[in-house]
Amino acid sequence: METVGAVALDKAGNVAAATSTGGFPLKLPGRIGDSPSIGCGTYADNMSGACSATGVGEIAIRLVLAKTVCTYMENGKSAQEAVETAVKLVDKRITNVYNDMALVAVDLHGRVGAAHSSPNLCWAYMNADQKAPVASLTAKLVK
Ligand code: ASP
Repeated sequence: METVGAVALDKAGNVAAATSTGGFPLKLPGRIGDSPSIGCGTYADNMSGACSATGVGEIAIRLVLAKTVCTYMENGKSAQEAVETAVKLVDKRITNVYNDMALVAVDLHGRVGAAHSSPNLCWAYMNADQKAPVASLTAKLVK
């Protein structure tokens, strides 16, 4: 049932994103969520960075959210600034409904970002300088 997302940047500057999900409880048969929809729940572009989303897929689809995060990074925001701005965008644009969202991203400098409006976001990161990953049950809570 749960969603797992990953973003990566290699030493040649290539980025990648992946998202796996069981979807949402009570989803309609045949529903295609945001996770496999490029730009919505998953996006990577060597000109901007990579992003993976979890939350209500229909919201990520409406806001083309992973691509939006990448556009923020392409326009100069760090990965952290980009995911926080995007979670705020969800709150501003999608009102009066359950709109919890969580985003992870990496920018072209290798900076990671994680932000959520959901109660928790289990996440971890590692770069070439670290001997072990850093992991946490929460990231930047944006409300
Ligand atoms: N975004 C997924 C979907 O709507 C669900 C999730 O990430 O929890 O299918």
